[in-house]
Amino acid sequence: MNIILLGAPGAGKGTQATKISDGYGLPHISTGDIFRENIKNQTPIGVLAKSFIDKGQLVPDEVTCKIVEERIAREDCKNGYMLDGFPRTIAQAEALDKIANIDLVINIQVDFGDVMERLCGRRVCKDCGESYHVSRLNGATTCSRCGGELYQRKDDNPETVQSRLEVYSAQTEPLIAYYTKKGLLFNVVSDSTPEATYEKVSAKLDALLK
Ligand code: ADP
Ligand code: ZN
Repeated sequence: MNIILLGAPGAGKGTQATKISDGYGLPHISTGDIFRENIKNQTPIGVLAKSFIDKGQLVPDEVTCKIVEERIAREDCKNGYMLDGFPRTIAQAEALDKIANIDLVINIQVDFGDVMERLCGRRVCKDCGESYHVSRLNGATTCSRCGGELYQRKDDNPETVQSRLEVYSAQTEPLIAYYTKKGLLFNVVSDSTPEATYEKVSAKLDALLK
């Protein structure tokens, strides 16, 4: 099963991705995580990606598509995978159509008004990528899942979040119509707890696997 997670920044894609990956044994492919890993290791891709990410802009399609193509060709993707944060443009979706058969696109819907507060208060585990919100951490500085240290992403500040939302509306939102037309879109509203959202997602995945 090959699935795509779609949604605005702060919709909770990463959180659902971790749960789906644990629940269904699908490798979690996050282009954002791949870029951050490259930035940390100061690779040429990392240096290039950083100049876009820090401004809240998208990394160019050629670079991003090549990374995904290489990643889904690996052995662990043989029985399926989950893409988180890719595709983000129509050009990326068209490139993906040439190399993959997608079974489902999960569109996680969130109120734009909630995103700023969610992202600016977000803390992320540097080891496993789990997200937390400062208001629920009670001062904790480590991950309750793996003990890793929590940090604040450099692009989780008001100015950058604003441009990420604008980029989402202009470049990523058209994918909703693109995948609706293909009959692949499954909408899920992310308005209560991550667990409640995951229940809706897993019911859909179970039905699909039957
Ligand atoms: P979020 O969904 O919270 O914005 P991500 O971790 O998915 O965070 O992405 C962080 C940044 O990485 C994006 O703002 C963008 O600059 C870059 N990026 C991630 N995925 C893509 C992609 N498919 N195409 C272009 N840029 C991307
Ligand atoms: Zn962790």
